[in-house]
Amino acid sequence: MNEMPPFDALWFRILVGFLIGAALGSFSTMLAYRLPRHISTVAPRSHCPSCGTTLQPRDLVPLFSWLLARGRCRYCKASIGARYFIIEVACSVAGAAACAAIGFTPSLIAALALIVALVTGAGVALSRRQP
Ligand SMILES: [Zn+2]
Repeated sequence: MNEMPPFDALWFRILVGFLIGAALGSFSTMLAYRLPRHISTVAPRSHCPSCGTTLQPRDLVPLFSWLLARGRCRYCKASIGARYFIIEVACSVAGAAACAAIGFTPSLIAALALIVALVTGAGVALSRRQP
C-alpha cells in the first residue's frame, strides 16, 4: 500500500487552505478598512461603523456572518458592502489554491502573507472607489 497520510491528501490541503484563507480574508478586510483611516489594528474591537455596536463572535465568522445577515448590520440594519464578502471569498480561494499547490511547507507562510498583502491592497483600492 502506498497511501498518503491524510494531512497530505489534496482534499485536506484544499480544505485547510480554504479555512485559513477565510480567516486571513476577514483579517484583510479589517486592514483594508483601518489602515487608510489610520485606526489601530489592535483596538478598538471590531464594531459597526454606523451604530458603533461592538461585534460579537457570531458576527465575525468569515463568509457566513455576511451571508446570514444578508449584508446588513445585525443591530442597526445598515448595509455592509459586498466587498467584505468578495475579499473573504477571494482570500479563501487563493488560500486553498496556495495550500493545494505548495502543501504544508514554510513557503506556504510566505504565499499566504503575499495573498494578504495583495488582497488588502485591492481592498483599500476598492474602498477608495466606494464610500
Ligand atoms: Zn450597526
